[in-house]
Amino acid sequence: MHCYDCAQEGRTDRTGIGACARCGLFTCADHSRITRTTVQRPVGVIPMTSAVQARRLVCGACRTAEVA
Ligand SMILES: [Zn+2]
Ligand SMILES: [Zn+2]
Repeated sequence: MHCYDCAQEGRTDRTGIGACARCGLFTCADHSRITRTTVQRPVGVIPMTSAVQARRLVCGACRTAEVA
């Protein structure tokens, strides 16, 4: 899978590293942002926040929208 943002720039040499968690497009390391996110998991009937943060990949456009 090629990076969508690179393809928009006319480049098809970059391989995507993963799919954006928000829009689902494939992006390369340069166009991806890895963020940390908390995970809720149920302990009995009570949702608990995990002490360990999970990883989340979003593309540059979605990351920009999230922090704008
Ligand atoms: Zn790219
Ligand atoms: Zn995205």
